Amino acid sequence: MKTVISNNEQTKELVNLVLQGASEAFNTYRNIPGDRKADFLNSIAAEIELLGTSLITQAMAETHLGPERLMGERTRTCAQLRAFADMVKEGSWVEACIDGALPDRKPLPKPDMRKMFIPLGPVIVFGAANFPFAYSTAGGDTASALAAGCPVIVKAHPGHLKTSSLVAGCIQRAALKNNIPSQVFQHIEKTDFDTGQALVLHPLTEAVGFTGSFAGGYALYKMAVNRDRPIPVFAEMSSVNPVCILPEIIRKQAKGIAEKLANAVTGSMGQFCTKPGLQLLIEEEGFEDYLEALRHKFSTAQPAALLHEGIASTFYKRRNESIGTEGVKLEMSSSLKASVQEGYPSLISVSASDFIRQKTLHEEVFGPFTLIIKCRDKKELLEVIRSLHGQLTATIIGTTQELQNNRDIIDALTDKAGRIIINGVPTGLEVCPSTVHGGPFPATTDSRFTAVGISSVKRFVRPQCYQNFPSELLPNELKDENPLGIRRMVNGSWEDPGKK
Ligand code: NAP
Repeated sequence: MKTVISNNEQTKELVNLVLQGASEAFNTYRNIPGDRKADFLNSIAAEIELLGTSLITQAMAETHLGPERLMGERTRTCAQLRAFADMVKEGSWVEACIDGALPDRKPLPKPDMRKMFIPLGPVIVFGAANFPFAYSTAGGDTASALAAGCPVIVKAHPGHLKTSSLVAGCIQRAALKNNIPSQVFQHIEKTDFDTGQALVLHPLTEAVGFTGSFAGGYALYKMAVNRDRPIPVFAEMSSVNPVCILPEIIRKQAKGIAEKLANAVTGSMGQFCTKPGLQLLIEEEGFEDYLEALRHKFSTAQPAALLHEGIASTFYKRRNESIGTEGVKLEMSSSLKASVQEGYPSLISVSASDFIRQKTLHEEVFGPFTLIIKCRDKKELLEVIRSLHGQLTATIIGTTQELQNNRDIIDALTDKAGRIIINGVPTGLEVCPSTVHGGPFPATTDSRFTAVGISSVKRFVRPQCYQNFPSELLPNELKDENPLGIRRMVNGSWEDPGKK
C-alpha cells in the first residue's frame, strides 16, 4: 500500500488505517514458513537489481553521492536481504529450546517447557539521509524486521523520496509475486515530523527502527517510552568515533597514517556515522610531523556537494561553533573555495583539558571535519577516553609492542564502543554475522543489539515460552520430531539434526 498523506487533518486517520492493515497482515505473515519468507526477501533483492542504473541515477540526483559509492551500497543492501533469506530458510535463528516434562520429579513434577523467538508485530522504520539503500527503505531495519516476521511501515526520508519510492515498489512487487499480504510492507511518503510521531505513538505499533541524528532518534525514543504502553525504539544515532594514535607508530609512519585518516574524514564528504571525528595523540616526537602531514592533506582536499541543504547548514553551524570554542585552533581548511552547499574539509585542534571541560566538542560534526586532541601524556589520554560518550566505534593505532603495552587504553576504548578496531579506520563497515553496528548511548538507544548483520533480527523478536503444550498446538520449531531439522537445545544438550 502506498499512502500519500495530503494534510495534517488526515494524518491521524490514515496512520490508523496503515496500522490496522499492518496488524491484520501480521496475523497471516507471522505464520508464513521460513522458506517462503526467504523467497520474499530474495525477490526484493532481485527486484532492486532489476531496476539497474535507473535506481542509481535517481539516488545520485537526490543525494549528490557518486555512482561507485551508491552501487557499492546497493550491492551491500541486496547482500543483506539475501543473508536474512538464508537465515530464515535454515531456521535455527529462533533459538529453539526444549526442556521435557519430568512427571515423577520429587518433590514436585516438572512441566514440559519450550521456548523460541517470535515476532513483535508492526515495526516503523525511519531511514537516514546518507544511506539511501543500506539504512533506508529496504535496508537492514526493514530486512531484519521482515525476516523476524514483522510487517514494516517505512516513513520515507525527504532527502531521497523518489529513490525510496522506487525501492518500495520493488518490495511491493516481491510481495505480490510471492503471495505475501500487501500490507506486510507500507510506504509513507510525507515530509513532516507529525506523521512519523503519529506512527510511533499508534497503539498497534510494536517497535521502531531509526537511523539518523541524535536529535531525531532521541525525540522519538522519548515519545515511545512515554506511551501508555511503552515500546522499544532501536535508534542508531551519532558517533564521533575516536582514533587513538600511539607515539612510536607516529614516529615511524606519520605520513602514511595521516593519509589514511584524512581520506577517512573527507571521503564522501565525511557523511558517515563511522567517520573518525576525534584523533587522540600524545605531544611527543613525531606529533608535529603528523599534524603537518594532515594539514597538507586537508589543504588539498576537494570540497563537494553535501547530501542536502539541511545537512549543509548544520555542518557549517557545528563547524563554526567548534572553531569558536575556547582553546580551539583551526589548523587547516581546504584551500579550494566551497559553496554553501558543499562540505569544507576542516582540521582543528584543542588541548585535552579544554576538550574534557567543553561538552559541545564531544558531539558529532557531520561532514568533512575532524578534531585533534593534544594530550600531555598517557594519563591525560586515558582521561579523555573516559570523558567520552558511547560510540559506534573506537580505533587504536600502534606498533605491535605498543599495543601489547597499552592494554589499559584498549580496555578503556572497549568500554565506550560497539566495535573496536586495531590499526585501521572505522569507515567502510564489513557486513557479516560478527558485525556489531551499535554501542553505548548516545550511539544507540540500546547497546545490547546491533543494527547490522543477521543478529540484528533480535531487535524485533521476543522469547516466548510454551508450557505443557500438546504437540499439535506447538510451532513446528518446537515439535519433538524437529520437522524443520533446525539446531536446538534439548534437555540441556545441543541436538544435532544431522544425526536424525
Ligand atoms: P535525521 O534528520 O534525524 O532524519 C532521519 C529521519 O527521522 C527522517 O525521516 C526524519 O523525518 C525523522 N525525524 C527526525 N527528527 C524527528 C522528530 N523529531 N520527529 C519525527 N521524525 C523525525 O537524520 P539524517 O539527517 O537523515 O541523517 C544524518 C545523521 O544520521 C547523522 O547524524 C549520522 O551520523 C546519522 N547516521 C547514523 C547511522 C548509524 O548507524 N548510527 C547511520 C547513518 C547515519 P523527516 O523526514 O520528516 O525529516
